[in-house]
Amino acid sequence: MEFTLKNKGSLSPAVKYGIVAAAVLVLLAASYLFVNKEKESVTYTRTLMGTVVQLTIMDGEPAKFDEAAEAAFSEISRLERIFSSYKNDSDVARINSAAGTALVDVQPETVEVMRKALYAAAISGGAFNPAVGVLGKVWGPSGEKGVVPPVSEIKKLLPLVDYRAIILEEHDRKAGLEKEGMAINLGGVAKGYIVSKAAAAMEKSGVTRAIIHAGGDMTVFQKDTKKPFTIGIQHPREKKLLGEAFVYNGAIATSGDYERFFIKDGVRYHHILDPKTGFPSRGTQGVTLIAKDPTVGDALSTAVFVLGPEKGMALIEKLDGVEGVIVGEDGSVRVSSGFEGKIY
Ligand code: ADP
Ligand code: MG
Repeated sequence: MEFTLKNKGSLSPAVKYGIVAAAVLVLLAASYLFVNKEKESVTYTRTLMGTVVQLTIMDGEPAKFDEAAEAAFSEISRLERIFSSYKNDSDVARINSAAGTALVDVQPETVEVMRKALYAAAISGGAFNPAVGVLGKVWGPSGEKGVVPPVSEIKKLLPLVDYRAIILEEHDRKAGLEKEGMAINLGGVAKGYIVSKAAAAMEKSGVTRAIIHAGGDMTVFQKDTKKPFTIGIQHPREKKLLGEAFVYNGAIATSGDYERFFIKDGVRYHHILDPKTGFPSRGTQGVTLIAKDPTVGDALSTAVFVLGPEKGMALIEKLDGVEGVIVGEDGSVRVSSGFEGKIY
């Protein structure tokens, strides 16, 4: 079901619903990963990519805000059709159905996302692994099946979870999979890319300050100002904020075991898989990264989650333009050396 909630109003300094909107956002914090603390804004909401997409516009030409929001939403729909694991004619589905047999022609957007996905896979030693697609058969593409498969079944699939067997021919815009039965899933990387493209669409339509938020991915941008956005980071276990990040321009990506999960026999099964075991990754409750590149940031949040607090933080510290917070299985909080913000 698709719906639109639109808060329209003048952008006068005395925007009255600011306080109400802030209160609503705090209430929604359990399902939203971040809380937007900007008070004077116009918000557009729509369900896309299986999640709630929220556009919060703070500055620009008010007469053009509707048009800008529409441009962003249609850009999201266009890109969702390319990367989806749920649509038969997406580039991802076409690559998967030709596994082991042929390379297929893909969109330039797919080349960019796959290139960054393979980069994230390489620097994380395969903790981020787009070839987890084949495990979607047993867990569901986003872990939604709700059934724990037998270990033997998972073990049979593990040889196919091999990102080195993903072929990307950038110049010819072709992609493919070396082994029959392999499948890619770009669910851990595409949303960051899509959200940043939605931001670009809004900027093109005259918006000069905005937050674009979809599930675990957020992009913030400002053109004429240098005022940081204060982004609340959701606590992975409690209905409260863990802290806040101050971000000027760029992406905030979160991966958590509390987004999509089920509990069976007291064990939490969530949607981020350890490619080595084929089972939900253990050792981390949540990761929030601030990144210059939203696509890499999204992939890395998943990678760091799988690597765990120690190795994950070592990776963050090694990379330029990436900062972050990791909450371990035991609730311990690690913060990177260049992180700008507050942990409560
Ligand atoms: P969300 O999509 O909820 O924002 P993530 O960015 O962490 O969260 O992505 C999780 C999704 O990525 C899963 O739903 C699945 O499609 C895919 N995925 C799961 N495990 C991995 C992994 N180890 N490497 C790459 N992609 C993964
Ligand atoms: Mg991710």
